[in-house]
Amino acid sequence: MKIEFLGAQGGVASGFNATSFLVNDDLLIDAGSVASTLAVERQALIKYIFLTHSHLDHIKDLAFLCDNCFVTREHTFEIFGHSTTIINLKNHLFNDAIWPDFSVLPNLENPAIRYNTFVPEDEVIVGKYKITPITVNHPGDAVGFLVEFEGKTILFSGDTSQTSRIWEFANQAKNLQAIVTEVSFPNSMIGVAKASYHHTAETFAEEYTKMPKGVPIYLTHLKPTYQDQIISEIRKLGIDGVNIIHHDGKILNF
Ligand SMILES: [Zn+2]
Ligand SMILES: [Zn+2]
Repeated sequence: MKIEFLGAQGGVASGFNATSFLVNDDLLIDAGSVASTLAVERQALIKYIFLTHSHLDHIKDLAFLCDNCFVTREHTFEIFGHSTTIINLKNHLFNDAIWPDFSVLPNLENPAIRYNTFVPEDEVIVGKYKITPITVNHPGDAVGFLVEFEGKTILFSGDTSQTSRIWEFANQAKNLQAIVTEVSFPNSMIGVAKASYHHTAETFAEEYTKMPKGVPIYLTHLKPTYQDQIISEIRKLGIDGVNIIHHDGKILNF
């Protein structure tokens, strides 16, 4: 399984792209930067788009993905989300006010996007993937995903603060290869982190005690403004197997 971190940051600035992870060229986890980082020809190859939640940094490039590819794409982009996420996309993005309704464009028979709703903890099978959404502790009915492909599993927590259910699943997961999770703020901003349901290095360290051991951890979603400080606080924890994705475009193979 190939994971391409198109964007792994908790914000947008020059050189910092928002959350969007491409799996094997056809599966996209979140759409924060897929249009701004990926060649249009490769955008057109995506089949399945799984959204953790509808915060702007996880969905904004859906707009431009559709705009780039609504004629050239090979397939209708199958968008999967919690019912709350799908309703938010319909009401607040593809509503013909902010952006055209690409679920009926270029025509009803072969639209650019199709909405699919999942229920947390119910497996979704698409192509060769088995994907299990699991509720996490973040607004908008946010979920993380266990993505299973050819006998290997990767966990994507998405945005979250202290949570437990997804770690119960992680501890049972078949052949778990990696945990991709988040740290967004420096320790000094614990108040903001708690209010916005994100982690600091210190709360990540508490969360780590619930995670299966011996599985590499990849930290994402650092706020660009505080990146250096967060990196130094993570390194001070001295936890083995913790990697920080602070440059976009990194590719990992499992
Ligand atoms: Zn969020
Ligand atoms: Zn986010």
